[in-house]
Amino acid sequence: MINTDIIIIGAGPTGLFAVFEAGLLGMRCHLIDSLGKPGGQCSEIYPKKPIYDIPAHPEILAGDLVNNLLEQIKPFSPTYTLGETAEKLLKEKESITITTNKGTIVKGKILVIAGGLGNFEPRKPNIENILKFEGKGLQYKIINKEIFIDKNIIIAGGGDSALDWTIELSKVAKKVTLIHRRNEFRGAVESVNKIQKLKDKGVVDVLTPTTLTKINGLEYVESVDLKYNESPINIKTDFIIPLYGLVPKMDIFKHWGLNIEKNAILVDNSKDYMTNIKGIYAIGDINTYPGKLKLILSGFHEAAIMCHSAYRLINPEKRNVLKYTTISGIKGFDGSVKAAKKVQINTIK
Ligand SMILES: Cc1cc2nc3c(=O)[nH]c(=O)nc-3n(C[C@H](O)[C@H](O)[C@H](O)COP(=O)(O)OP(=O)(O)OC[C@H]3O[C@@H](n4cnc5c(N)ncnc54)[C@H](O)[C@@H]3O)c2cc1C
Repeated sequence: MINTDIIIIGAGPTGLFAVFEAGLLGMRCHLIDSLGKPGGQCSEIYPKKPIYDIPAHPEILAGDLVNNLLEQIKPFSPTYTLGETAEKLLKEKESITITTNKGTIVKGKILVIAGGLGNFEPRKPNIENILKFEGKGLQYKIINKEIFIDKNIIIAGGGDSALDWTIELSKVAKKVTLIHRRNEFRGAVESVNKIQKLKDKGVVDVLTPTTLTKINGLEYVESVDLKYNESPINIKTDFIIPLYGLVPKMDIFKHWGLNIEKNAILVDNSKDYMTNIKGIYAIGDINTYPGKLKLILSGFHEAAIMCHSAYRLINPEKRNVLKYTTISGIKGFDGSVKAAKKVQINTIK
């Protein structure tokens, strides 16, 4: 079992910044995210897009914003459970326990739900027998590249993920075939150009316009039926990887007794972003209140206020005074110190 002060569900920008604010107040955090890496929407949907409305950053790539947040929270040594979904909640008088879909148990004094739009699930192709082949040659994400060495792979999709993985897996696979229902790809031009070169060299095949109509095989994927330029074709393959994007799902939080409004968790914004359950907060895109703006900067602001409230809840006997980091510096749990600098006053005699 993992023990911590604050359990944070969601390692998006809001959850990450909450670690920093909690750290300043001496509280440790454990982050749980169903995605395999931190960053939420910024990492998963638009890492290469520039953001223009982060205060003091006239322009910053979403991926760089996440990297900076990770750097900023390093002194507070957060711990992570990635690639697992928070599924069960047990609320007791003094503690909260979360169990993930893979059985990991995390116990804390406070729960912060920073779950964004909810749990991302892969958008699946609308064909028969899909469940039968999941994990048996049909994959929606790539975790370990080794399993594709010398294999035949079909990747379906027209966005950045499909293009990036076609390029990446072509380095290890026997053959990668990229299929897409349109002739035009939505992904980055550089990636499209790279694939054109790989196609010209005979390293990858590209079939457009093509749709997946059936997966065949006794137990594992053996071949797929495709509609290529309106004609039915069959291709033998070891893997079929549809990369059609992700659909956010809020279902889990709806079963935890939280007040839900407009598909989001209702919080008290007059005070501290606490939900209707004491000790459970919701911050960032996942919450709603009058005037809510689903922006990264709103999540940052809510994280700071939430942490001060959580500190008072955990330490009712202590006085909590707001300290400027310019004055207090930063003392990391890892022993690192960023000292406050005294302003030198020079006088002329
Ligand atoms: C294309 C695009 C462009 C955008 N541009 C801007 C912009 O220019 N400026 C701006 O301010 N905002 C922008 N946004 C919005 C911004 O990305 C969100 O406001 C921000 O990501 C919210 O952060 P968050 O941490 O609250 O949630 P998210 O980033 O959504 O992160 C939530 C995390 O929680 C995880 N999670 C959810 N449920 C569970 C569960 N049960 N168990 C485990 N993990 C769970 C998810 O996997 C996810 O990683 C944009 C969004 C998109 C899609």
